[in-house]
Amino acid sequence: MPLDLMTLRLVERPVTREEGLRILERDHHRCQYCGLDGAASFENALAMSVDFVVPRARKGKKDERNLVACCRSCNMIKGRRVYRSFDEAKSYVLAQREKLRKTWETRTAAPAASAPAKAQKPSAPEPSKAAAASVISSSPLSIRNR
Ligand SMILES: [Zn+2]
Repeated sequence: MPLDLMTLRLVERPVTREEGLRILERDHHRCQYCGLDGAASFENALAMSVDFVVPRARKGKKDERNLVACCRSCNMIKGRRVYRSFDEAKSYVLAQREKLRKTWETRTAAPAASAPAKAQKPSAPEPSKAAAASVISSSPLSIRNR
């Protein structure tokens, strides 16, 4: 069922296929956090899902105003934290992405001697780096290295 694959087979159950598709179309198949274009390729389409801005567990409503197109990476980074608004969630997700990117760049740019291929915590973790490392440990970036 390629259509389901391309669209919403992977969307979490609380949103029906039709509801999810409506959100993705409203948002032009773009992740509302990082801007990933879900229409650009099959791989990107697979990455798209629909996010509850206020999580259901926190009484977030299944209301179109509480639903946004979201890629799985951003969804994972956003996690279960509670945000006062979409903008606050977006700021958090983008900041975390930036931290992840820096960590990743550091890792890939470092000489082999000081940076083994596997993801490792920075040798002298300050709070912000430790936070980034903990995000990495649960992100697709690290899964790839297992
Ligand atoms: Zn995204």
